[in-house]
Amino acid sequence: MSVEHILGEKGRDVVTISPEQTIGDVADMLSRHRIGAIVVTGEDGGVLGIVSERDVVRAVADGGGAALQQPVGERMTRRVVTCGLAAGIDEIMGLMTNGKFRHVPVVEGGRLGGIVSIGDVVKHRLAEVEAEHQAMRDYIATA
Ligand code: AMP
Repeated sequence: MSVEHILGEKGRDVVTISPEQTIGDVADMLSRHRIGAIVVTGEDGGVLGIVSERDVVRAVADGGGAALQQPVGERMTRRVVTCGLAAGIDEIMGLMTNGKFRHVPVVEGGRLGGIVSIGDVVKHRLAEVEAEHQAMRDYIATA
């Protein structure tokens, strides 16, 4: 199963933020949208970084409540690992496991075109496993 298939089901909307906004804005948006990470984009829509709930926790642990006024650009991860539409679930699981993160933005032709979370990966992998088991049960029943 490919990233294109996953996005076909969940949609291509991505919540984004600019680097000048604050960590407080990140906390507010994560809570309001019920998500775990936000992609940081520039005025041209290009990906500048990613900021997740873990970055908010680290910022508050380092600086207390004052950290909520810190610009996103000072806390985001700049080297973002992305994937294309043709990437498979196994490849995404490998990226997440090796990089120790739970979100992979999808970039096609230099443009942000979706995001895959660990929740999406688990959901579709479980569906694949269930389909494989059902095919096996059907095969055994007709053998
Ligand atoms: P997460 O597990 O997605 O909450 O992210 C854990 C840490 O990895 C945070 O510091 C994020 O900024 C960073 N991170 C999240 N996704 C990515 C990604 N695709 N590429 C690089 N870093 C990431």
